[in-house]
Amino acid sequence: MTPYPIPVIFNDTTLRDGEQAPGVAFTLAEKLQIALALDNAGVDEIEAGIPAMGEAEIESIGAVRATVRKAEVIAWCRMTEADVAAARRAGVTRVNLSLPVSDRQIEAKFGTDRADALARLRRVVGLARDAGLAVAVGCEDASRADTDFMLRVLETAEAAGAHRLRFADTLGVLDPFATFGIFQTLWANTDIELEFHGHDDLGLATANTLAAIRGGATHASVCVLGLGERAGNAALEEVAAALSPILGMRSNVDLTRLPALAALVAGAARRPIDAAKPIVGSAVFAHESGIHVSGLLRDPQCYEALDPARVGRRREIVLGKHSGTAAVGNALERLGFSPSRDEVQTVLARVRARAQTAKRVVSDAELASFYHAVMPQ
Ligand SMILES: [Zn+2]
Repeated sequence: MTPYPIPVIFNDTTLRDGEQAPGVAFTLAEKLQIALALDNAGVDEIEAGIPAMGEAEIESIGAVRATVRKAEVIAWCRMTEADVAAARRAGVTRVNLSLPVSDRQIEAKFGTDRADALARLRRVVGLARDAGLAVAVGCEDASRADTDFMLRVLETAEAAGAHRLRFADTLGVLDPFATFGIFQTLWANTDIELEFHGHDDLGLATANTLAAIRGGATHASVCVLGLGERAGNAALEEVAAALSPILGMRSNVDLTRLPALAALVAGAARRPIDAAKPIVGSAVFAHESGIHVSGLLRDPQCYEALDPARVGRRREIVLGKHSGTAAVGNALERLGFSPSRDEVQTVLARVRARAQTAKRVVSDAELASFYHAVMPQ
């Protein structure tokens, strides 16, 4: 059994980490559209930007706050007094204060040591709490930090008044087994909220996020389409859709809104959605191969782990090089024809030949023309 309350809370960072993806820059209008779509989809929290970037970003964070109705709006800050001051100018009530916690990053970024990082945490979290801000402590490069030190960070964050610790696998180097173990340890040592922020450098961000939740994470930090630095983050749509079938858990996210949300972000980011992208790709509920289609026509669950209607999609049976007689017969009947077995065989040969030469699926119009060509006069 899972040792934590449901639902899992979603913290979407498309407007912050997502926009940090190489070459991605949203306009203010796009940011507001995305924020509104996230809010309407039931996403609980929106990480809206980095106030320290300057006036335009401060204004856009304020505009996001004014636009959304339900979602909590959070500003991302470094663990510095100046960043907290900038966040206050953005008018937010909640901040994520990010602190490098691996020895490598502490040394490279501050030129100091663990004791200095803890002192900084105490000082800046204390300042933010005194200013009335709710604080999540974001642990950058936590996956390469010493575990005992992570527990010191957790204890210090809690004592300083933080309500949450975000564990960031900044470089995407964790695997689900390690992630699960780490979260079990963190969960056993604290009462504050635990959030996982995973990167997808090895293609494991979604798996690691689910493992973190199984281990005790209460919050998932995600981006629409997994947009983000380098290979990106855990994808909102993948984690949200997997919660129920994999963990038996739920969230407040309306899964049927995911396709439109993905299309919106893909357009604003100028990043086309790969046909095979889980949940939202054009091909992921399309079936072509004869063996699959003949099973699917008898029982959809033969070859579908996820009912497409659950995520606002529809099943498609397409005709191509790997089609069989069941799919062709079914498609002809759908078009109002009553083909004989021999006619189906003849049309199937034409379908396969057309798909081979055209390198694409065969349309209904083409199918009808093939059938008219073989029909007895
Ligand atoms: Zn990140």
